[in-house]
Amino acid sequence: MKVAVILPAAGLGTRMRPATPEGAGTSRKQFMLLDGAPILLHTIRKFAACPLVNEIIVALREDDLVWVGERIHEDGLAKPVHLVEGGDSRQHSVENALAVVSADTDLVAVHDAVRPFISEEIVESVLQEAAAGGAAIVGIVPVDTVKQVHLKKVRATLSRDRLILTQTPQVFRLDLLREAFAKARADEFVGTDESSLVERLETVEVNVVPGSDRNIKITRPSDMELARLFLAEERASAGETG
Ligand code: C5P
Repeated sequence: MKVAVILPAAGLGTRMRPATPEGAGTSRKQFMLLDGAPILLHTIRKFAACPLVNEIIVALREDDLVWVGERIHEDGLAKPVHLVEGGDSRQHSVENALAVVSADTDLVAVHDAVRPFISEEIVESVLQEAAAGGAAIVGIVPVDTVKQVHLKKVRATLSRDRLILTQTPQVFRLDLLREAFAKARADEFVGTDESSLVERLETVEVNVVPGSDRNIKITRPSDMELARLFLAEERASAGETG
């Protein structure tokens, strides 16, 4: 089984205020430094270390292609990492990456560049599920009660046992994902995740595997505090076992 990982990292990160002075791109969340390395690089390292992964494709803004390419090269990773130019939406960035996936790929895993705390166990379980059924995503159950609102008025209370909060990776058979993107383009549909595109095909069920509350999407400045804590804990537990 051949697995390609797509990491969309071409976002502008407008919810994160300009931060560190350490050079190009650090005001955007995917390039903020965690222990001296951009968050994107922490995420790439996780997949590069995963035995089931064959190649990694990163979508970047044009201005970031050179310096990020050099930074990845310096890291001396064991897997090929290809860089492509992203688009003006997450969906467009993933579509550009999908265009260069190796032809003999079986499964494509799309993962937010800003979720560096994904565990190998979760990657393995979502890949296994997608290998069996064609499509699988990672989700966690909400701890808060979720309501539907319109103009600040509650319209419905959703039953928590029928809801999940979607994380990544989201994994699909290559042919299914290509078909889903072609249909979305034809219908001018833009979704906030890849699963919503595949769901529209109505030819495959998307399975859900349990995620983790550590698999955070670094979005707001306060998430960096948590990220530092999680990284320190990861290092400590690697030290104990390694
Ligand atoms: O913007 P959002 O929070 O949904 O971003 C999720 C991921 O998609 C981030 O890793 C971001 O860099 C990426 N993205 C992208 N191209 C865009 C917008 C977002 O690759 N045009």
